[in-house]
Amino acid sequence: MRAGKTVLLMFLLPAIAVLLISFAIGLASLKSLKNQYLISSDIQAEDLQTLHQEATFKRDISEVHDRVSDTLDKARNRALSDIALYRLHAQLVDDLAQVEQQVEQLADSNLLREVNHNSVDGLRSSFSDYRRLVIMATEIAAIDPSTANRFFTEAQHSFNQFSIYSGRIAMLLTDRTMQREREARSRHEASFVQIFVFSLMAASLLFIAVLVIAIRVSGRVRDIADALSELSYNTQAEIRLPKMEKLQESSAGEFSRIASVILGFRDDMVRRIQAEEENHRLTFYDPLTGLPNRRFLQEQLQYSVTSSSRVKNYYALLWLDLDRFKMLNDVRGHQAGDLLLQQVAKHLRHLLREGDLLARVGGDEFAILCELPQTRQSDAAKEAERIAFRICSGMSKEYDIEGYSHYMSASMGIVLFADIRMGADTLLSQAEVAKYQAKSTGPGTVSFYDASIQAQINRMAELETELRSAIENEQLILHYQLQFNQQGQPTGAEILLRWQHPEKGLISPLDFIPLAEESGLIIPIGKWVIESACKLLARWQSQSQLNHLQLAVNVSAKQFRQENFVEMVSNLLQQTGAPAERLKLELTESVLLENIEQAISKMNSLRALGLAFSMDDFGTGYSSLQYLKRLPLDQIKIDQSFVRDIVTDPEDTIIIQTIIAMGQALSIEVIAEGVETEEQRQLLAAYGCHRYQGYLFARPVPLSECLESLKGFHKH
Ligand code: C2E
Ligand code: MG
Ligand code: MG
Repeated sequence: MRAGKTVLLMFLLPAIAVLLISFAIGLASLKSLKNQYLISSDIQAEDLQTLHQEATFKRDISEVHDRVSDTLDKARNRALSDIALYRLHAQLVDDLAQVEQQVEQLADSNLLREVNHNSVDGLRSSFSDYRRLVIMATEIAAIDPSTANRFFTEAQHSFNQFSIYSGRIAMLLTDRTMQREREARSRHEASFVQIFVFSLMAASLLFIAVLVIAIRVSGRVRDIADALSELSYNTQAEIRLPKMEKLQESSAGEFSRIASVILGFRDDMVRRIQAEEENHRLTFYDPLTGLPNRRFLQEQLQYSVTSSSRVKNYYALLWLDLDRFKMLNDVRGHQAGDLLLQQVAKHLRHLLREGDLLARVGGDEFAILCELPQTRQSDAAKEAERIAFRICSGMSKEYDIEGYSHYMSASMGIVLFADIRMGADTLLSQAEVAKYQAKSTGPGTVSFYDASIQAQINRMAELETELRSAIENEQLILHYQLQFNQQGQPTGAEILLRWQHPEKGLISPLDFIPLAEESGLIIPIGKWVIESACKLLARWQSQSQLNHLQLAVNVSAKQFRQENFVEMVSNLLQQTGAPAERLKLELTESVLLENIEQAISKMNSLRALGLAFSMDDFGTGYSSLQYLKRLPLDQIKIDQSFVRDIVTDPEDTIIIQTIIAMGQALSIEVIAEGVETEEQRQLLAAYGCHRYQGYLFARPVPLSECLESLKGFHKH
């Protein structure tokens, strides 16, 4: 790939600048180094020359001196003619003149001037003496050899003197040369260090410059990468890329171009998403009310149906149709109709719970999809009906349409579904059918698609209304089922509620107790049962055949959970004067374990009054020895489902044996309910259960019958 101009300039310009500066500094350093080197090498050459002169001059003077000595020897021995001697003398004078020149040169040399020592003067004067004496000696040698010898002896002395000076000078010169050499070397070293430091600084500068540039470039590249990833993951119609906008403005060349391309791409993408959203809105939403349309609901339903096959709770699909909408449309025109629909949609939204889905599925029709927490069909149906009525009554009101007030009501069809693998279309059409049913019944009504559910709902509603009046009309009656000990003697009776319905006959408590619980009617009913038990016990107190019998009353969860339950029982005992120790309350495991601490505290308060407690339907819940130990119980009742199969099911046998063992371990009396056969009784007795209740002994009967059968026992 060809490198872009901007990137190249970004990298190269600072690098080139730093390199140029470094190069200039390096060049200057090298030049100064070279100058230094040249100067010191000149000095060195000069010093060497001086040393050489000194050595030459020493050699020459020694030679001259040897020749003088030789000449004087020969003159003394008369071995030389006068002419020869004179020639030698003349020669010597020339040579000495030359040596003197050398001495002067030496004395003038920089090196010796620097040394500036009196040795130079000594050298000069001793040489001058020597020269004078040698000339005089060689001059006179032909005439007076002994005077010549004397002069030579003196010259010898000057020569020695001169040698000492020249030796000293040689030493000084050598020392000085060496010192200068050392100075030159240290100067070189300093220069090298300087150059090294400069180079290091230049390299560092270069490195920093490159680093700064690299960071800037990588920062921009990162911003670009961020922008690209934002683009690739974004699904929103609004994509903000402030860094790219800044890059586009602030930089030039490639980076600005890349930023422009990315921003252009972003704009395209935003336009595409907006178009898609618009498309989606048109496909899945109703333009008039802004609500999801039928298609949206269909897709959502598909999901709900699938997910409800995993989680076993119910969904309700409510189909709502506005009553007499067509009339408004015809009389006031479509615009008025549209306005009403918009107002209804707005109002409906407020009436729904969070999570409910509201859709407009037709001209004046809306659908609502609700997830219900219930897992039992009857409970879910009741909840769906409650929601439907709440919505129907909530939206039945006056609407203000262009200044006219219009009263609006609605009818609703309901489809309940859970683990149904049918399609969304089927559900929608069933809801619509249910709506037609509701509409045919009359405006403002609610109808279930499933006829049996509708029937059940109707029956329940009817029962609830009737149950309210049953108490006043004294249709509730009590039956008594005796309980027996090992010897077959009655120990007391359980009071069982019955509803003597004028048309439906005797209704089982299993059918109306849940309804009474749900509607809250259980509170007055339960109180009435306890009051009846207390009154009876008070009556029995004075009858010796009956005053030992205990009466057991079933207490429902809602009743027991009442805050003033203890107070209520205590008041009834006081009002009736019943012996508290003859009254036993039957509670189920679920009631006790729901809030165990509170249950224990209530039970203890009642126990303090003298009441006894029995745990009903034991074994069907989750009771463990752990809980049983903590509860202040007097009796546990083995549930009749275990007793029923005790003869045939070994598992039930084990459960019964375990319950009996638990009772024995905790010193709690164990009673078996639902004992129907002698075989069952024998087995229970064999396992250690000695209290019984069941058809084998006595059926639940009205009080008169119960008293009658009790008489039979008195006789024995
Ligand atoms: P429960 O307390 O477990 O009552 C025992 C049920 O077993 C009674 O049903 C009784 O008639 C029945 N039973 C007794 N012996 C036998 C037998 O040998 N074989 C068979 N198959 N059944 C036998 P019932 O009277 O229909 O009562 C049902 C439930 O309704 C009671 O179960 C109790 O939980 C509730 N209940 C009854 N009366 C009241 C009441 O006054 N208040 C409250 N809260 N619940 C009540
Ligand atoms: Mg009971
Ligand atoms: Mg029971």
